[in-house]
Amino acid sequence: MALIITDECINCDVCEPECPNGAISQGEEIYVINPNLCTECVGHYDTPQCVEVCPVNCIITNPDVIESREQLLAKYQALTTGAERAPRE
Ligand code: SF4
Ligand code: SF4
Repeated sequence: MALIITDECINCDVCEPECPNGAISQGEEIYVINPNLCTECVGHYDTPQCVEVCPVNCIITNPDVIESREQLLAKYQALTTGAERAPRE
C-alpha cells in the first residue's frame, strides 16, 4: 500500500527529506505522496519513515492503492534498478 497525507497536515516539512524514494513533495495546500514512488519504505527501512516523524500523525494508508509486500518490494526494485541503469543509457 502506498501512504497518503490527510488534510490535517500542518506543512511542517519534516517528512519530505526523510523519504528514501523522494515520494513526498509540497502540494498546492498540503504535502503529498506520489503513490508510484512510495514503497511504504519497503526495501529501505522496517517502518514508514514519514509516519515515524510526522508530528500530527496525518499519514495513513491509501485505501485506493492497496499493494502486497511483494508488490512493494517489486516497486522498490524497479525504482532502484532504474536509478542504477540511468547513467548507462
Ligand atoms: Fe516515502 Fe516511506 Fe513515506 Fe512512502 S512510507 S512516502 S516511501 S517515507
Ligand atoms: Fe505534513 Fe506530517 Fe509531512 Fe509535516 S510531517 S509536512 S504534518 S505530512
